[in-house]
Amino acid sequence: MVGLALAKAIYAVPTWTKMVALVREHWALQRALGCEGNPPSKWAAYRWAAKLRDNGEMVERCIDSVVEGLRSKLPTYGTDLAIDASDMPAYANGQRYVYQGGPERNWHTDPDASWGHRSAVSTRRGGGFYGFKLQMACCASTGLPVAWSVETAKANESMFVAPLIDAAKRRGAMAATCAMDKAYDVNRVYGECAERDCEAIVPLRATGAVVKGEHRPPACQHGVWDFAGADRKRGAAKWRCPTGECAPASTWVKADRLHPLMPRESQRWKAAYRKRGAVEREFGRLKNEWGLKPLRVRGLDRVRLHADLTILTKLACALSRVRAASTDQPRSRTQRGQAPSRRAGVKARPATRRE
Ligand SMILES: [Zn+2]
Repeated sequence: MVGLALAKAIYAVPTWTKMVALVREHWALQRALGCEGNPPSKWAAYRWAAKLRDNGEMVERCIDSVVEGLRSKLPTYGTDLAIDASDMPAYANGQRYVYQGGPERNWHTDPDASWGHRSAVSTRRGGGFYGFKLQMACCASTGLPVAWSVETAKANESMFVAPLIDAAKRRGAMAATCAMDKAYDVNRVYGECAERDCEAIVPLRATGAVVKGEHRPPACQHGVWDFAGADRKRGAAKWRCPTGECAPASTWVKADRLHPLMPRESQRWKAAYRKRGAVEREFGRLKNEWGLKPLRVRGLDRVRLHADLTILTKLACALSRVRAASTDQPRSRTQRGQAPSRRAGVKARPATRRE
């Protein structure tokens, strides 16, 4: 059954019924899953999925152990995070109004979903959609997910930064920095990150204070002051007069949204923010290659299980690849942190299934 769930995500099959039909027709799949001549029925598959929903902590433990395995093989995994949310349209009618100019639809086949906003992608316009949002913290260097949660679409994304960092830390990730887009530029997010010893890398929204120029570094008649290091414990950054003629020649600026410990003009900040793209790429891969999209289940608990199993499969394949790479060629490829090839992952799949 675990193998069936892995194969479902690997072949991006949307439903258990289709997956069971695929296994029935292919003896090679049956052999790989250890059910040769006696493939499971679709009812068995749905019963098993119901059991998984009732025993969420078992899935959670499984995810924890795979993440820990990855962390032991990939030392940079989880050091720098990138957090974002992405739309998952519900398996329900996505029309907001009953007919053009008519009343708003008040009944949906998926009452757990709600109206949220998504940005434009390619030729698709941004705007409202009915469904869920996947909140995810990705590793910025390896591009693999570290922590995630599925919430209804209207939920405010900035509320999930703290739970995601907590989950990442519980799984042993270092989470030294966390890159997020402008939607997370809220005072509370900076505070929550600082409490968790994680540096928030967020661009500024043009709020009133920013328009007034309160985010600029201190200045005097000798020019704009230079950044002279940050003290995490103190929660403040030191700024110095460029010529040192002022008295005092330096001052401590308390860290907040307008004055982060890592100045936004610095090369270090820019490099850290550039890594944010990792989470967007991962959303694309999960949706288009691993069958996260389209949803063919309704209800928050079913959608959550679907996302958990999909991402768990992706991580398990990555783990089997890095394990195979570290035993086959101990130097060349692992040092660069690269997975050898997709074929190696496919071959090593039965090994993952037994765990
Ligand atoms: Zn001065």
